[in-house]
Amino acid sequence: MTEPMPTAGGLRPDEVDAYSALEDRVRAGATMPLTMAAPRRAKPPRHWLDLAADEARAAVTGLGLPGFRADQISRHVFEHLDLDPSGWTDLPLAARAQVTEAFLPPLLTSVRPLSCDGGTTLKTLWRLHDGSLIESVLMRYGVPGVRASGSGRNRATLCISSQAGCGMACPFCATGQGGLQRNLSAAEILVQVVAGARTLADGAIPGGPGRVNNIVFMGMGEPLANYRAVLASIRTLIAPAPHGLGIGARGITVSTVGLVPRIEGLADEGIPVTLAVSLHAPDDELRDELCPINTRWNVADVVDSAWRYFRLTRRRVSIEYALIRDVNDSTERAQLLADVLRRDGGHGWVHVNLIPLNPTPGSKWTASRRRDEAAFVQTLERRGVSVTVRDTRGREIDGACGQLAATALTE
Ligand code: SAH
Repeated sequence: MTEPMPTAGGLRPDEVDAYSALEDRVRAGATMPLTMAAPRRAKPPRHWLDLAADEARAAVTGLGLPGFRADQISRHVFEHLDLDPSGWTDLPLAARAQVTEAFLPPLLTSVRPLSCDGGTTLKTLWRLHDGSLIESVLMRYGVPGVRASGSGRNRATLCISSQAGCGMACPFCATGQGGLQRNLSAAEILVQVVAGARTLADGAIPGGPGRVNNIVFMGMGEPLANYRAVLASIRTLIAPAPHGLGIGARGITVSTVGLVPRIEGLADEGIPVTLAVSLHAPDDELRDELCPINTRWNVADVVDSAWRYFRLTRRRVSIEYALIRDVNDSTERAQLLADVLRRDGGHGWVHVNLIPLNPTPGSKWTASRRRDEAAFVQTLERRGVSVTVRDTRGREIDGACGQLAATALTE
């Protein structure tokens, strides 16, 4: 049998069919059931990035190599962002082959990179070992001479996926409408970061060689539904070199639809990552519709757990709120939002991030009118709530919030 021909977009014909069927479903107004447990699939092969520092040495000696090789491998991986041992001249050839086979199997293959905003936004579609597709988006800000990169400090944020698909079924989100394929392993999460960091270090993004300052778990998936792997990946992100990527915990944001017991667990880990909670509505009636998980943990439960997160970590919590025209953008709802977020008489513990809705194909919803958005902002500000409107980077390449469903590549 011959291999199916790859298409222009890098997808196989069967993948094109699967994704256009998904688009048809969304156009027809299909909604997904909530899925809490990820389907069990063939596990990705073990990878160096799955190992905690203490496991790494044991794994190396288990292979019959001297323990000091572990630090060498970690330096290549975490300091030089190099996942290909063929050029590691400080290791004997035979050891390089062993290490490749045992610890560095290819996990992610880039199907197609897409860029916009003057080259400062780069979205990559990745294929995993079992054919699942995920996406990550690299956004560089404040690049002199590139207006589309925005003003301010030169910095780079990487938006990564934690699951292939998502089981949370939010009806305005393209990923949510595709359902959940499976959880990613820690290494599959971290390879996205290593690749993004390498792209920046190589100077492949306008603005010269740089590094990743912020990581946001805002790509595909519900990070707290894949708690174990996400937490392992965070530990490696923050571990100083040579055992990790040395990214400050404060630069990492975990965005959740509101899995209350897991928010509590995360607060108890004592890692000061930023928590973002996707609220999208201040009342249960509307939130039941926009975030079906609300039928399990409601607005009061979610805000209480966010408040507890703040008290334990002293990290200001972000509240994500996608503004949807005539659905959740009235000034009455802005007032109610300010009311439900008040704790200890004030709002200093929280910051509201308004996201202009990115319409998904066939969706009945669209972004708010400018004046409604402005009135919503003003209503919050008057009540002392700190609020910003999120920019819409990556829009032309379907790289903006909630658009990650790999559908654009089927065209
Ligand atoms: N599962 C996580 C991460 C989701 S993506 C969570 O729910 O937080 C990050 C943010 O983008 C979430 O707030 C999500 O609700 C929002 N989002 C999803 N689809 C969107 C869309 N079409 N327009 C604007 N924001 C969207």
